[in-house]
Amino acid sequence: MPPQSIASAREILTGLHEVMASRLGAQAKLNKVVQIIAEAMASEVCSIYLLRDGVLELYATVGLNQSAVHVTKLAHGEGLVGTIAKQISVLNLAEASSHPEFAYRPETGEETFHSFAGVPIVRKERVVGVLAVQHADPRAYEEVEIEALQTVAMVLSELVANAGLVDRAASAAEGDRDVGMARQVGLKLVTGMGRGVAVYHQPRILIEHTVAEDLEAERHRVVSAFTRMREQIEGMTSQAEFGTAGEHHEVLETYKMFAYDEGWARRINEAIDEGLTAEAAIERVRQRMRRRMAQIDDPLLAERMHDLDDLSNRLLRIVSGQLGTAAQAGLPHEAILVARNLGPAELLEYDRRKLKGVVLQEGSLTAHVIIVARAMGVPVIGRVADVRQQISEGDTVLLDGDEAVAWVRPTQAVEDAFDAKLEATQKKRAAYAALRDVPPVTKDGTRLTVMVNAGLRDDVAALAAVGADGIGLFRTEFQFLVSANLPRREGQARLYRSILDAAEGRPVIFRTVDVGGDKQLPYLHDHTEHEENPAMGWRALRLALDRDGLMKVQARALLEAAAGRELDVMFPMISEPWEFDEAKALVESQRAWLLQHRKQVPTAIRYGAMMEVPALAEVLDILLPKIDFLSVGTNDLTQFLFAADRSHPKLAERYDWLSPAILRFLRRIVRACDAADVPLAVCGEMGGRTLEAMALIGIGVRRLSITPAAVGALKAMIRSLDRQAATALMEIMLERPPENMRDALGAWAAEQGVILS
Ligand code: PEP
Ligand code: MG
Repeated sequence: MPPQSIASAREILTGLHEVMASRLGAQAKLNKVVQIIAEAMASEVCSIYLLRDGVLELYATVGLNQSAVHVTKLAHGEGLVGTIAKQISVLNLAEASSHPEFAYRPETGEETFHSFAGVPIVRKERVVGVLAVQHADPRAYEEVEIEALQTVAMVLSELVANAGLVDRAASAAEGDRDVGMARQVGLKLVTGMGRGVAVYHQPRILIEHTVAEDLEAERHRVVSAFTRMREQIEGMTSQAEFGTAGEHHEVLETYKMFAYDEGWARRINEAIDEGLTAEAAIERVRQRMRRRMAQIDDPLLAERMHDLDDLSNRLLRIVSGQLGTAAQAGLPHEAILVARNLGPAELLEYDRRKLKGVVLQEGSLTAHVIIVARAMGVPVIGRVADVRQQISEGDTVLLDGDEAVAWVRPTQAVEDAFDAKLEATQKKRAAYAALRDVPPVTKDGTRLTVMVNAGLRDDVAALAAVGADGIGLFRTEFQFLVSANLPRREGQARLYRSILDAAEGRPVIFRTVDVGGDKQLPYLHDHTEHEENPAMGWRALRLALDRDGLMKVQARALLEAAAGRELDVMFPMISEPWEFDEAKALVESQRAWLLQHRKQVPTAIRYGAMMEVPALAEVLDILLPKIDFLSVGTNDLTQFLFAADRSHPKLAERYDWLSPAILRFLRRIVRACDAADVPLAVCGEMGGRTLEAMALIGIGVRRLSITPAAVGALKAMIRSLDRQAATALMEIMLERPPENMRDALGAWAAEQGVILS
């Protein structure tokens, strides 16, 4: 920007600063402001329109008729001013009347002016007014003049808000944006319906002060913020929130590129030279870049733009010290959380009574955050493009997880339809609830076992509520994820005991900690040790055997909790039989210690292994004689079979659980277990879907451990299924797989009257 324009922007800002600090009334302040701008820009007209009761009202002007003040009003989208407000964009016209939206207002006397430039006044991403200048000569304004106007508009937004000129309710009300209802379609991740107010996981930063008192100090703040941001980005590669929860190297590389971009830092400093605070300067530069990029029609650039937006937010958070997530700030009574992505631990920080749903820009079906959400009973949709552009904080959102749709700012008609559907779902749920005490027996009389997956203390309530046969997978690591420090033995034992008590004699299979992968523990993982492929990395039993102190404590906690009762333990991510041996020996050594010290121990211990690593299938003949049961974790198993990261958003829909490869593989394991007389269960998310479960039963699976919410639907399916017919069907289907297994199985189910959800 040429020095001349810096001078004029600074001149205006200095003037505005004085006005803001003065004791003048609000109207007098605005009158002064238009004078200052008009003078500094040698402009014949300068006017400020503010949003009041949903319309843009002329609040102050020099150059137009004073009698038009508070008289001239334009609706959103009406005239040039209304267009600027509606599109949240700049208009720069040499001949105002030639613009199609030009609306002539005789009371203003504006017919003598030809050129027109206007910029929106924005507060918290909402337009609260418009600042416009006009000239008698038909001439387009220079880019530097527009820039100066935008800078001034930013400061004005502070003045307007502080003076209470736009009433808060009006500026926050959704109708004022006149953006109407929007329907966002995403990927179905957790079913269910929820209604609430949109809350950003990373809240928008509110810029309190825009005019700098001390330019040097502001420059200094920016330099240290950049340093911190660069450090954070360097550290991100090994952080839980990064590289594991769906954000990948591409993004990281772009972040790095921007973080070290001298041009970006320089432009922020130039904005400070104009007289802005560090926060306002960062925001100003972001707006300018957004405007530039919006003019370029390139999807790749648009994506980069979002990364830069993210980074600008990060920089703003650092510089303003507003660092927390919405979990720390506390949720409103009913909230729909909006985020690019989340880690499981981050989600667990939210109050589940208030959290009614989650909308993600990324996300995939078997990412742990989704499993946690399922456990919490919170509906989630993912892969909603530009989520923060589409949903604003404070918008009302109706989330229909079953259809993977979010209705944003719904109309009354949509609200009514939503309520009707909600009622129907509740009826359906009531029908499923009626199946609570009905056993999962197939039409031809086979009693199957339906257990639930759990991990949170509250999940136990679900056990009785849905009438399951026990807990087939208790993910003990959830307790580790919600704690700031490693949970102590007593705390672990207390949780396990309460789970066993609540299960009232039904089996509970405790899985030893499965951390690592996308479940990083800040107090356990060394952030400097970056893992290229964390899902295939130092996680689960591998980590537990290396850090056996952790495993010993857990083993002791389990043994103490189950003293005098039976205990079922299973080990995750077994790749070779010796790992099972070591893990079992470790638990046994703790049992021996307890016995030696005359402590009570469990009456019996059953040891199980998880089948998650394909290599284990080749050595089942060695493993099976050692174990009491096997549980197939299809989430991990299928990601390894297909070499497709389970939390990668782009792969979320790529492979089907009903693929012949997966089903044949599973059938082979079922057969090996049957031959060795080892009970087998499937505990991955796959078993919680009725069509998938039907196929699993067809290949011989008799035990499923699933998310509690799916038990009713699963029982209904089982009770409508002829197991022998399903077995015969799967024989044929896997002998000569149809082109589309899902469609073929769906058609068969429909024909046979199998109830699918
Ligand atoms: C699995 O991998 O299928 C499983 C049940 O374990 P988790 O999802 O916790 O990795
Ligand atoms: Mg697993």
